[in-house]
Amino acid sequence: HAKEHMRGRYAFYTENLNRSVSRKLELERYIHGALKRNELEVYYQPKINARNRRIVSFEALVRWCNSELGMVSPAEFVPIAEKNGMIENIGFFVLKEAMATLAHWQSQYDSELSMAINLSPVQFRSDDLIQVIESVMLNNGLDSRHIEFEITEGVLLTDYEGIEDKLRKLKALGITLAMDDFGTGYSSLSYLRKYKFDTLKIDREFISDLPTEESDRKLVAATIAMAHELGMTVVAEGVETEQQDAILVQQGCDLLQGWLFSKALPAAKMTELLKQQCSST
Ligand code: C2E
Ligand code: MG
Ligand code: MG
Ligand code: MG
Repeated sequence: HAKEHMRGRYAFYTENLNRSVSRKLELERYIHGALKRNELEVYYQPKINARNRRIVSFEALVRWCNSELGMVSPAEFVPIAEKNGMIENIGFFVLKEAMATLAHWQSQYDSELSMAINLSPVQFRSDDLIQVIESVMLNNGLDSRHIEFEITEGVLLTDYEGIEDKLRKLKALGITLAMDDFGTGYSSLSYLRKYKFDTLKIDREFISDLPTEESDRKLVAATIAMAHELGMTVVAEGVETEQQDAILVQQGCDLLQGWLFSKALPAAKMTELLKQQCSST
């Protein structure tokens, strides 16, 4: 009886495993042609100044829509693209799109708007990363102080040669560096000290239960105090409710990002939000 039960469990396990393996293979097969087939698009999610409640910045978030697979989340395909090297082309596409969009929005709506772009650790392998970033920035007539790169601690755990050098060069260009998903990885504090991040993004994990968990409120308050002590700007990720918003404002968080304000939207839809903001000044 027990044996049969185990066999059942095993079959269930291998079936799930097979399914996830074949899903990965399928994604891998389709991702190669995704750029050529124009299936990638950059969406934008605003960051709100917690005090004056205005949109001051955006995060560029890549989207993949394939006719066979439908919408695939970047949480699912970015890791695959990192493994097969496609992330380099995808990253370049996002860089160009996001910077062109920012240049357009600055000229039409507000010259102080900023753009944050996620950089994968794998992109740091490329020798010309810094030159590419600099030239796309210059081609779009952008000032480096309006450009921010979001990186996770993963970047600092990889042992690519020259990563430190590249981070230093980005900072020397005047580009802002943000530590993404703060609080969920390893040894964040030593990295904060070593690389002099300008911005700290508190992970959604610590934001979601703020209204009900006193320990989360204490952790977030302490994180904000520490970041400010180090001269960093603090962004809260995944703000979904007014209660979370109120607590973060009261705790002195600088920028807020989350579905309470807007989901990530295609450029044309985000333009509508910007127009509204401009007409209300
Ligand atoms: P991330 O950089 O930490 O981005 C935040 C994620 O949280 C985004 O998911 C965003 O849509 C989602 N989010 C924002 N506000 C809320 C909220 O209020 N509630 C909830 N539940 N979620 C919210 P998304 O767009 O699916 O991206 C997932 C991850 O994929 C990103 O995490 C980032 O690590 C990666 N990613 C996305 N775009 C790019 C890209 O262009 N390049 C690279 N290298 N990675 C990217
Ligand atoms: Mg991010
Ligand atoms: Mg994040
Ligand atoms: Mg994340």
